Amino acid sequence: MSQIKLQPKKKFGKIDGCLRCGRKRGMVRRYGIRLCRQCFREHAPEIGFRKYS
Ligand SMILES: [Zn+2]
Repeated sequence: MSQIKLQPKKKFGKIDGCLRCGRKRGMVRRYGIRLCRQCFREHAPEIGFRKYS
């Protein structure tokens, strides 16, 4: 029987924060994107998301 070591927290590769500004604060990781709130607001129209109503 081979023992499988369970890692406490498995991260998704490297989490460098926002892909644009590298900010780790206020991250929006919804829908598979990794942007901070500010960049998300700016990129939302480009990605196809609508602004907050
Ligand atoms: Zn950002």
